[in-house]
Amino acid sequence: MEEINFSQRVGAVLRRREFHRTFIIFLFVYYSLVYYFGELVDLAGWDALRWEFFYGVHDVHRIFFLIPIIYAGYVFRIKWALITTAAAFIVFLPRALLISPFADPALRVVLFTIVAGIMGTLTGMVRNESERRSQLEALIKSERDKFLGILERMEDGVLIVGPDYRIRFMNPSLIREFGDGTGSCCYEHLHNYDEPCDQVCKMQNVIGGATGRREYAFPDGRTYDVIASPFTDSDGEVCQLAIFRNITQRKKVETELIELNQLKSDLLSNVSHELRSPLTSIKGIVSSLLQKDIKLDDDTSEMLLTGISEETDRLASLVTNLLNMSRLEAGVWKPEKERCYITDIINEVLERQKWVQKKYTFEADLGPDLPEIYADYNQIRQVLINLVENAAAYSEEGTRITIEANTVDGMIEVSVSDQGVGIPEEDLDRIFDKFYRGSQNRKQPGGTGLGLAVCQSIILAHGGQIWAESEIGHGSTFHFKLPVEAPDDKRGLKK
Ligand code: ADP
Repeated sequence: MEEINFSQRVGAVLRRREFHRTFIIFLFVYYSLVYYFGELVDLAGWDALRWEFFYGVHDVHRIFFLIPIIYAGYVFRIKWALITTAAAFIVFLPRALLISPFADPALRVVLFTIVAGIMGTLTGMVRNESERRSQLEALIKSERDKFLGILERMEDGVLIVGPDYRIRFMNPSLIREFGDGTGSCCYEHLHNYDEPCDQVCKMQNVIGGATGRREYAFPDGRTYDVIASPFTDSDGEVCQLAIFRNITQRKKVETELIELNQLKSDLLSNVSHELRSPLTSIKGIVSSLLQKDIKLDDDTSEMLLTGISEETDRLASLVTNLLNMSRLEAGVWKPEKERCYITDIINEVLERQKWVQKKYTFEADLGPDLPEIYADYNQIRQVLINLVENAAAYSEEGTRITIEANTVDGMIEVSVSDQGVGIPEEDLDRIFDKFYRGSQNRKQPGGTGLGLAVCQSIILAHGGQIWAESEIGHGSTFHFKLPVEAPDDKRGLKK
């Protein structure tokens, strides 16, 4: 502790200008005395000190004066180096003009004074320059610290990468998102690459002066809008400064908007086509019926009227699905659950479909003692109607459509099977998407790709599951499962 105090005290003394001034004067007086020491010895009669050195040419003695001159240049800079040089010149003059017995004493004095003045001035200049440089460095450092302080507090992520791709700085916001990678290579830390690649690492363009903006989508789903620009670091190296703005949320909304627009145009094109075709048929049939000059027999009239009835059913089913979908989407068609029997729903649907789809054979295979379910009767009926209508739409006339119901794992499982065209494996996951229509043709025209989407929404709102199995050319089976118990009901399955 004391040692530190002592060295601190020495440092303080050395820093004091007064000390240096006194020391320079001391040196100057000392070397002046040495310069005239021979004359002093003569005057005082100190014969023992009559050394050769004090009586020769005084060029060497003048060199001693370089010490206070350079010292003054170092400590007090150019002005005081020149003043000390001028003082030395005055000291040299009496010897040069009055005392020296040697050749050209004045010339040598002048030459020496010029050289000493230059050396003192240079010393002052070098000192000035180095001081200016260190002040500049301190200024740059403090500006950088201030700048980094601002970057630290920024909500966007900030990254500074050197020309060697090493991360020099990450602000806390970026560290929160990617972890601290200071010192490691940016392509390794951010992208898990082994080396820089052309697609992601545009560093050389940026440090070449180009400001770049690009989007980076990371495999985990995060997307960043990155603005990269050149930045000169405190060591003078041109680096890349990149601002990372997390736009994952915005991107999601954009994608949803694009999907929504796509859905809207799908809906418009599907629906307008699907509405127009039954209307055109109805209009055609009605025009034929209205033609007074053509007499229609009973069979033809019945066929035409059946046509109108079928087309009207198609329209009704289309409008129902559209309405249901929009009510489900808007959240206004919530299930109004009640205790009811699935067998009642199945029987009602079968009765109606046997009448509508006269050319199909309907079968029901219902397990014994099926329990009550807690569900919206109308919604579950709509699910069954959609599935049965699809079964008929994608099967040949005369084939069989079977509805089964059983209790499986404490839930009611209902299946609707047909012997129709089947569904390709790759379509099985997508057929429940809105407006998705498979590649195989419906037997009758029509369809919007909404029927199964409605079914799925209803079943999910009941806490159930829906899925399909199929074999191309042999038929399809649609299954759905419904929970039996109400959330507050402990009665469970009837045994
Ligand atoms: P669509 O109005 O096209 O029938 P859905 O949502 O009801 O719309 O069905 C979506 C797609 O699923 C249909 O386009 C069809 O490719 C396929 N699909 C549905 N049910 C069956 C079925 N029983 N047999 C074969 N394919 C079916």
